[in-house]
Amino acid sequence: MESGGDAGRERRLYGPSDSKVSPRFSGIRTYARLPHVTEHLDGVDVAIVGIPFDTGGTYRVGARFGPEHIRSASALMRPFHSGSGVAIFDRLSVVDYGDLPVVPGYIEESQRRIAAGLVEVLRFGVIPIDLGGDHSIALPELRALAEVHGKVGLIQLDSHSDTSEAYFDQPYTHGTPFYHAVKEGLVEPSRSIQVGLRGPVYSDRDYAIPREMGMEVITGVEAHELGMAAVAERIKKRVGDSKVFFSFDIDFIDPAYAPATGTPEIGGFTTWEAQSLVRRLAGLNYVAFDVVEVIPAYDVADNTSFVAANIVYEFLALLARAR
Ligand code: MN
Ligand code: MN
Repeated sequence: MESGGDAGRERRLYGPSDSKVSPRFSGIRTYARLPHVTEHLDGVDVAIVGIPFDTGGTYRVGARFGPEHIRSASALMRPFHSGSGVAIFDRLSVVDYGDLPVVPGYIEESQRRIAAGLVEVLRFGVIPIDLGGDHSIALPELRALAEVHGKVGLIQLDSHSDTSEAYFDQPYTHGTPFYHAVKEGLVEPSRSIQVGLRGPVYSDRDYAIPREMGMEVITGVEAHELGMAAVAERIKKRVGDSKVFFSFDIDFIDPAYAPATGTPEIGGFTTWEAQSLVRRLAGLNYVAFDVVEVIPAYDVADNTSFVAANIVYEFLALLARAR
């Protein structure tokens, strides 16, 4: 769908510019060559929102450049999702909202600005797909969601639980957001599930903590043994019809496919397994998504950004199929 149209129309269907008219490598980079729109979001279904914050990183940093690189890689996205047979932008009005303001080095002030910025988007009834940023942004994302939608369920694909209470005696890092989200009452643990946990951990408490907090956990080993179809059934059963936030840590994918991330773990999932899993999760009551932990400086041939751009595209297809 062309982005042009009658401004007087009630519902403007925003979509990408036509890549058969202007080639995909040309132009200013927004996600999938969508229009950059920051005002009058009435009638918009989905907004791509950059959150270029990486002060929560505990090992590698540089996810502040994630949104920029994911957008650049996303120029390859064509408008028809062949995997599910939907013309995404015929069904959904989608914009690129640009980036939220963050303050590098100041996590609590950034959390305030991120949450306030997201509330602005959510109040229009828009579903944000956020581009991180490290995973610490999940806490302000969930604070904003709680303000507008109340408590939500969580689907977290990640090789880490991110439910430590503190790191270095500090509460807010990319290893702690879901601990605080549950403690603050932002997340409904009985409607929440973490999938893909693996790798060396500090102790057996690492997987016990999220379970004791009431969340379901499918470890990486269990997910491999179950297969994606069975994992999808467990996720759908867990979430039910509750409002749900889908948080995709790119380290869920094996570093062979997505090396440019903060804390890579081997034994992960292929890009096809990730696509296969996400595509089985249509019809849930999604209120927000994110893709986090892309650190382009560690990338090879932009592979990780390209994977992230495609995961965002899978999220758009999920929402388009529900129309
Ligand atoms: Mn994470
Ligand atoms: Mn992780």
